[in-house]
Amino acid sequence: MKQLFINIKELLQVRENKVDKLSGAEMKELPTIKNAWLLIEDDTIADYGEMDSLPEINADKTIDAEGKIILPSWCDSHTHIVYAGNRELEFADRINGLSYEEIANRGGGILNSAKTLQETSEEEVYQQSAKRLEEVIKLGTGAVEIKSGYGLTEEGELKMLRVIKKLQQNYELPIKATFLGAHAIPKEYKERPDAYMDLVIEKILPKVAEENLAEYIDIFCEKGYFSVADTHKLLSAAKKFGLKPKIHVNQFNAIGGIQAGIEHDALSVDHLEVMRPEDIESLKETSTMPVALPSCSLFLSIPYTPAREMLDSGLPLALATDFNPGSTPSGNMNLVVSLACIKMKMTPEEAINAATINGAYAMELSKTHGSITKGKKANFILTGKIPSYTFLPYAFGTNSIESVFINGKRIE
Ligand SMILES: [Zn+2]
Repeated sequence: MKQLFINIKELLQVRENKVDKLSGAEMKELPTIKNAWLLIEDDTIADYGEMDSLPEINADKTIDAEGKIILPSWCDSHTHIVYAGNRELEFADRINGLSYEEIANRGGGILNSAKTLQETSEEEVYQQSAKRLEEVIKLGTGAVEIKSGYGLTEEGELKMLRVIKKLQQNYELPIKATFLGAHAIPKEYKERPDAYMDLVIEKILPKVAEENLAEYIDIFCEKGYFSVADTHKLLSAAKKFGLKPKIHVNQFNAIGGIQAGIEHDALSVDHLEVMRPEDIESLKETSTMPVALPSCSLFLSIPYTPAREMLDSGLPLALATDFNPGSTPSGNMNLVVSLACIKMKMTPEEAINAATINGAYAMELSKTHGSITKGKKANFILTGKIPSYTFLPYAFGTNSIESVFINGKRIE
């Protein structure tokens, strides 16, 4: 089926040459076509141009997009959408002054989510997670990564990854699965964390690989969680099964996680709220994408990733939500783009690039997603009537999206 969009106020992120990712000053440029048309054929972007040069097209459906903007869907490369229950009670604890660490010490935090997950059936976890996935699709997300990490037992981790697999089968957007068994140390392993690492590496990881349940490996490399030595050990083991690293590093402390990730050719290093000059230096000239999660900074009142310093040093940057029950109960990429501008001093162009093409790179999807390019998937956002694309991050909290298209289909 041919669908033709005409009179588009502005078509964003139009890239003739397929780019994998954008770094440093390149991120300031957001190529657009004003007063544009866009043709999609079935699930693919077929052609586009200026209205002045619209050729005769025999379309099955013509959509007038006067006053509206079309941009590629958000590519959210870091989420924990699959979980059971919520943690709004801890939210109140935090308002009353307890820190993330104190809550964790009281048996809350990740361990609390793990307990709930273990007690919830796979079907129920699926239903709760599917609801969240549908919510983020309506908010403009057209490709997403989802991690395990609230199981923390063989059964629990495999349950989460099977739920992700079922989501992959039932939804059209690309979903990438990441095994995050090393998310926290379960209570029963508190005195012998090495035994938990052995369980993850020797028992669970081979099962994950055998059932082909994940493409990526993740670890929370942080004081009180997993060390740099654990990170090396896990990433080396995962490599044998073909799992690439996408890891949690530098959220509260810089302990060398970035360097460990780079050593293992990590696809991305995520969080990066605490960056030393040597961390920025290490990332230069690597294929590793740094990923910032500003809605987590907002929710926890912790520093934001120093995007300005990183971009001005020539690094690339991607933006993602970190949607999870503890530190970011929101999967809204529009808010993430706003926060990147408001709190991280990224320009709207940089933020949109970071949330589309660079997000796609952090999921190995930049050949098919993340820009308006002939031959790529027709995953895009049609806004309502708005004055300009800068309005998107400016009007934070406003939903400027009219419709979302996944593989050429309008999501109702
Ligand atoms: Zn995370």
